[in-house]
Amino acid sequence: MKIKSANFVMSNSDVTKCPSEKLPEYAFIGRSNVGKSSLINMLMDRKHLAKTSGRPGKTQLINHFKVNENWFLVDLPGYGYARVSKKDKNTFQKYITNYFEQRKQLVCSFVLVDIRHEPQKIDMEFMEWMGENSIPFCIIFTKADKLKPKVIERQVDDYLQELIDGIWEEAPQHFVTSSSNGTGRDELLSFIQEINLQFFKEKKG
Ligand code: GDP
Repeated sequence: MKIKSANFVMSNSDVTKCPSEKLPEYAFIGRSNVGKSSLINMLMDRKHLAKTSGRPGKTQLINHFKVNENWFLVDLPGYGYARVSKKDKNTFQKYITNYFEQRKQLVCSFVLVDIRHEPQKIDMEFMEWMGENSIPFCIIFTKADKLKPKVIERQVDDYLQELIDGIWEEAPQHFVTSSSNGTGRDELLSFIQEINLQFFKEKKG
């Protein structure tokens, strides 16, 4: 898929105030500093569409971007940032939970994890919650340029195996990406395009 346009639409913390258009929507979420903003900018081929985090945990809102005038990319706040107060954490959890539970247009979410790290408790808990609530998601491994191909393979296998050893019967679909060299961009955009086609076919039929 070619990115012809990508425009910021709105930020808010209330799912009922998100754009009302019935367009397929894709949410990106992960721990602060996982490389989410860089990945969004890389996918959209824009340098500053999503703000890369000078101060992790600062972008605390649901950010909607309209892409090619026919789908939404949603940049969700990074979770697990230690300096966010407990009160802020609870508020955050509530509106993110509401978003995932209530947003009808949401067709797929992407949970980002740093390819160099072992599975982290907070990510595991989050994916478990997604599974329990039947919210479809894929895993995006970020910063693949930091590892050698062989190590990438091992990290991914180990990570997915840990999911299978946990509550999962099979591992979710995954993508290996790097915002530094563009790895995974074509695969991700093709994946989104496929789902979009399906979405509009079903809407028509
Ligand atoms: P966010 O907090 O999840 O939005 O993360 P950012 O996109 O702001 O990235 C956090 C840090 O990781 C920044 O210093 C980025 O330059 C770096 N980073 C992000 N993606 C990549 C990547 O694919 N490769 C490398 N080497 N560094 C990355």
